Amino acid sequence: MKADIGLIGLAVMGQNLVLNMNDHGFKVAVYNRTTSKVDEFLEGPAQGTQVIGTRSLAELVESLASPRKVMLMVKAGSVVDQYIEDLLPLLAPGDIIIDGGNSLFTDTNRRTQYLADKGLLYVGTGVSGGEEGARHGPSIMPGGNKAAWAAVKPIFQAISAHVDNEPCCEWVGDNGAGHYVKMVHNGIEYGDMQLICEAYQLLSEGLGLSTDEMQAIFADWNRGELSSYLIEITANILAYKDENGEPLLDKILDTAGQKGTGKWTGINALDLGIPLTLIGESVFARCLSAQKDERVRAAKILPKQRKSFSGDRQAMVQAIRQALYASKIISYAQGFRLMREAAHEYKLALNYGDIALMWRGGCIIRSQFLNNIKQAYQRNPELENLLLADFFVDAMQQAEAGWRQAVVMGIELGIPTPAFSSALAYYDGYRTERLPANLLQAQRDYFGAHSYERIDRPRGEFFHTDWTGRG
Ligand code: NAP
Repeated sequence: MKADIGLIGLAVMGQNLVLNMNDHGFKVAVYNRTTSKVDEFLEGPAQGTQVIGTRSLAELVESLASPRKVMLMVKAGSVVDQYIEDLLPLLAPGDIIIDGGNSLFTDTNRRTQYLADKGLLYVGTGVSGGEEGARHGPSIMPGGNKAAWAAVKPIFQAISAHVDNEPCCEWVGDNGAGHYVKMVHNGIEYGDMQLICEAYQLLSEGLGLSTDEMQAIFADWNRGELSSYLIEITANILAYKDENGEPLLDKILDTAGQKGTGKWTGINALDLGIPLTLIGESVFARCLSAQKDERVRAAKILPKQRKSFSGDRQAMVQAIRQALYASKIISYAQGFRLMREAAHEYKLALNYGDIALMWRGGCIIRSQFLNNIKQAYQRNPELENLLLADFFVDAMQQAEAGWRQAVVMGIELGIPTPAFSSALAYYDGYRTERLPANLLQAQRDYFGAHSYERIDRPRGEFFHTDWTGRG
C-alpha cells in the first residue's frame, strides 16, 4: 500500500508532524538530506509505526499514492527552492508540494505561480505550536493553490489542534496567504512575549517582587482574561529552580535571539503604511537586548537615579495586569488591521474570524482572548479595527487608568516599557481627531513646497505658501 503523504525534513518539526499524522491513521513516507536521520527516526521515535523510510527523493516519490503529496519541513529560503527543483522531474501534473516551514510569503507567491505553470499544485502553510504542537495538534494556516486543498484538508484538519470540536486549520487564501498569516502570527507572538517581559520587569524591579511571588501572580492572571499559553509557561518558568534550588530564570543571559519573522512583519507594515508599533518595538527590544556589552558600558556612563516604588503594591500589580491586557488588545488590533490592508493590497479574501479560530488552539499565541476576537469578526466581518468592537471598547475603558499608572511607574523608575507605552501612544493617537500633522505639513511645504490641504476648503484642493516672503 502506498503512502498518503511524503515528508522531507526530519528535524524537530518534521519528526513530530510525521508521528502526529501516523497517530491519525495516515501512512507517511519520510526523507532527510542526512539519511542517517531517517534510520535514527525509524529505530527511535517512529519504531512500531507504519512510517516508511526512504533514502532518496526518487524512492520517496515512488512510495506515494497519486496525486502525490510531498511536504517540506526544512530550513526556509533557498533550501526550499532546491528541493522544488529536485522534485520537479520526479512529479507529475496534479501532484502537490507543500511547504510547512516559515517561508517568506513573497517566496510562496513566486513558487505557487512557478509550479502552477508546470501543472503542479503548491501549498505554503504556516504551522505553529513548536515541537509540542506539531506532535499533538498544531495550528495550521494553509494557502497557495486552492485546487490542492481537497486533497490536503483531511490530513491537515485531522492532525491540527481542535477547540470546541473545530479544527484550528482552515484554507487561508491564494498564493502566499497562509505564510502571510503565519508571519503576522509570529509578529504577534513577538509582541505578546515582549508585553509579558515588560510586566515581569515592572513586577521584579519596580515592585521588588520575588520569582515565587511573580509565579503566583502569573498563575492568577492565567485564570482570567489573560489566560493563554504564554502566561501559563511564564508562571512555570518563574517556578523553575536550578540544581542549587535557585530560580533558573535569574541566571539566564538577557540577550534575545530572533529568526526574522517579527522583522518581516514590521517591514511589511512599513511597506503597507500601517502602524504596527507594538510589534516593531518588540523586535527592537530584542535588538537592544542583544547589545549587551554596550549596555553594560552605558549603564556605568549613564547611571540611573535609584528610585523605589512607594505606592500601593497590590493596586500596582492590578495596574500592570491592566497594562498588559490593554496593550495586548492594541497589538492584535494593529496585527488584524495590517492583515486587512494586506487583504486589500494583495487581493486576498482573508476571513478574520477563521484566522482567530485557527489561532485559538495549537499555536504559541493561543488564548481565551482569541474567542473575543472571533466573536467580534463574526458580528461584523468588515470591522475596520478591533478597537471599535463593543467588547474591546469596554475592555479598553476598564483597563485605561491602570495602564497609564503602570507606564508612569516605568517612566518614574527608569524601567523601559517600549511596548506598553507605544501601545498607549497608538491608542491615544488613534482616537485623536486632530493630530499635529498640520504643523508637519506646514514644515514640508516650507522647506520642500510639498503643499497642504486646508480644513476650510474641500479635500483634494492643494495650497502652497511662500513662508519667507522671498519667493
Ligand atoms: P530546521 O532546523 O529549521 O531545519 C532542519 C531541516 O532542514 C533538516 O531536515 C535539515 O536536513 C534540512 N536542511 C537544512 N539545510 C539544508 C540544505 N542545505 N539542504 C537540504 N536540507 C537542509 O528544522 P525545524 O526547527 O524542524 O523547522 C522546520 C521548518 O519549520 C523551518 O522552516 C522552521 O522555520 C519552521 N518552524 C519551526 C518551528 C520550531 O519551533 N522549530 C515552529 C514553526 C515552524 P539535515 O538533517 O540534513 O541537516
